[in-house]
Amino acid sequence: MHFELPETELRRVESSPTRGFAAGCRAVRLRAVTNFDPQLIAELSALRDADLLRELRRVDSLAGTRAAIGGRELLNFSSNDYLGLAQHPALKEAAVKAVEKFGSGSGASRLVCGSLAVHHELEEALAAFKGTEAALTFSTGYAAAQGAIVALLGKGDVLIVDKLIHACIVDAAKLCGAKLRVFRHNDMSDLEAKLKWAGKQSAVSGLRPARTLVVTESVFSMDGDLAPLRNIVELKERHGAWLMVDEAHGTGLFGKRRRGLVEEFGLTGRVEIQMATLGKAVGAAGGAICGSRKLVDLLVNRARSFVFSTAPVPAAAAAARAGLAIIQSQEGETRRQRLWLLVEELKRVLISAGFPPSAVRAPIVPVPVGAEARAVQFSVALREAGVFVPAIRYPTVARGAARLRFTVSAEHTAEDIATLGDALGAIANRQS
Ligand SMILES: *Cc1c(COP(=O)(O)O)cnc(C)c1O
Repeated sequence: MHFELPETELRRVESSPTRGFAAGCRAVRLRAVTNFDPQLIAELSALRDADLLRELRRVDSLAGTRAAIGGRELLNFSSNDYLGLAQHPALKEAAVKAVEKFGSGSGASRLVCGSLAVHHELEEALAAFKGTEAALTFSTGYAAAQGAIVALLGKGDVLIVDKLIHACIVDAAKLCGAKLRVFRHNDMSDLEAKLKWAGKQSAVSGLRPARTLVVTESVFSMDGDLAPLRNIVELKERHGAWLMVDEAHGTGLFGKRRRGLVEEFGLTGRVEIQMATLGKAVGAAGGAICGSRKLVDLLVNRARSFVFSTAPVPAAAAAARAGLAIIQSQEGETRRQRLWLLVEELKRVLISAGFPPSAVRAPIVPVPVGAEARAVQFSVALREAGVFVPAIRYPTVARGAARLRFTVSAEHTAEDIATLGDALGAIANRQS
């Protein structure tokens, strides 16, 4: 088949101020057999015009809080490696040993022949850490969310999510076919209204009772605020719904034993599905669902992102297990305390430079900026000053709610934070 991009469309692209794309468009048109590239060029051009174009930045080396980008070493305030474990010698060593023992790849899906001892050891360690009967790991947190939701819900069920829930849950919602309802961020009366609505839906879904699942993050990834988990648990119990808590940014940081916010609020036995990611504070890669043995048994059968996907690489599983061991040790507590001190220091520095952050108690400290272009300008200015802080824009956050998202690691030093403060101060002076 042969499609031509309508001439009007092409003209629109050519008269766009983004010359790179226009030139690319003309060059492609000479060779184009279909309208494939011209269409994509038009779309990319529209993203650029709206200050929403994203491009990959190659990082040539990463050493904890430093990132070599474009031949320069930048001070990195953008990583989710909150406890600084991704560069920890114990995790590196565990990864290397696992490669030596099992090889670089897992060979197959867990249900074929990829269910290696390292995966089982990691899952036992995860269940013990989270205080649940069992745990199941996935290659990514994204896959864990997708697997769990698609396994548990179908047409005729109801999924109720916080407005700011992570994209992996939104995508899973679309895929599972359940009726989706969104409650205003952390708004308990709106959640209750949605639960009441769910109660009026059909009581059956196929041959089984209909299900209602509420999903929230514990620590919100782009806002750094906390979900009122106690109230959510009370509400879901009163309405006979189930709860899934995405602890991507809570695991390792909250609770006496650093299990997460579910532990901090004393709710371990009352949350049906606890999700964790292993690529943030745990310092490795992967995702996990923790809960009852029956939940894990069901996921092994029904979670499509588990069944039809090659097992996580041995190195990642072994590193995650080593990361969990450190989190549970005195070193984990020391690192956490250090992180909170640095977060307080960062907030002080931001306020005195005239960039007041939102009030949060998390290693994620967002500074609301508003316009997408402005957030990008700040990010570029900071990079020129030797500091890497990403501009977070739509679709990660709502349009017009762009922000700078500062994240801190236990490996930062007080001098690092002071350097950031100086850079921000200089930028603020230039602006005024
Ligand atoms: C990072 C993240 C995920 C996805 O985890 P990956 O392991 O990166 O795929 C899911 N939920 C939240 C809230 C996250 O921040």
